[in-house]
Amino acid sequence: MIEEHLRRGIGMTSQRTRERLIQRLRDVRGIKDESVLEAMRITPRHLFVDEALASRAYDDTALPIGQGQTISQPYVVARMTEALLADGVPERVLEIGTGSGYQAAILAQLVPEVYTVERIGVLARQARQRFRDLRLNNIRLRLGDGYEGWADHGPFQAILLTAAPARLPEELTRQLAEGGRLVAPVGGREGQQLLLYRLRNGELEKEVLDYVSFVPMLGGTE
Ligand code: SAH
Repeated sequence: MIEEHLRRGIGMTSQRTRERLIQRLRDVRGIKDESVLEAMRITPRHLFVDEALASRAYDDTALPIGQGQTISQPYVVARMTEALLADGVPERVLEIGTGSGYQAAILAQLVPEVYTVERIGVLARQARQRFRDLRLNNIRLRLGDGYEGWADHGPFQAILLTAAPARLPEELTRQLAEGGRLVAPVGGREGQQLLLYRLRNGELEKEVLDYVSFVPMLGGTE
């Protein structure tokens, strides 16, 4: 369905810059999972940012999406998605921090069911509209506080945080299924470690994947 949308009204430039981004992710940044690269190749990132920024949508950088928030850097999206799927495709994924909806759109092409929570109403509404336009019908979005997760639909085989808490929220670890994976940037405003947690025999194993810079995870809703 996304392919169809792509053919409409999008110039060759965007197609070519998009291919260049995928090449960079593969050859320079070392992303190996071809299914992740393919999802990123066919997903129109320019539709997840303001029109004024569309020409920069296939640069490997984070971009502002309003409300003081950002759409993550493509490399970071690819890295987190790859880490989340490394043991096989989970049935359900929970994302905390919908933002533009781009990360959820990538997941929706790889995983049967995506649940995503956003605390800012304006961003949640815009993301919901994008999911509708792109016919991404396997994403469910909730306006709410991600510190609470989404217990009704848990446990999840995979959980992804795209905003940084100071430390891993306990409630989210409770919604992680045995054998599941949780990827999160953890730390303060000056920078965070991108962590991968695996729940094995009831114990969380931790691995540092990278060093990243996400917006902070905040409580409550706006
Ligand atoms: N995944 C997004 C990245 C958005 S930036 C994308 O692909 O565009 C992080 C988002 O997390 C922001 O929209 C911010 O409002 C949201 N956020 C921060 N704290 C949150 C919380 N406690 N619950 C839900 N969303 C939160």
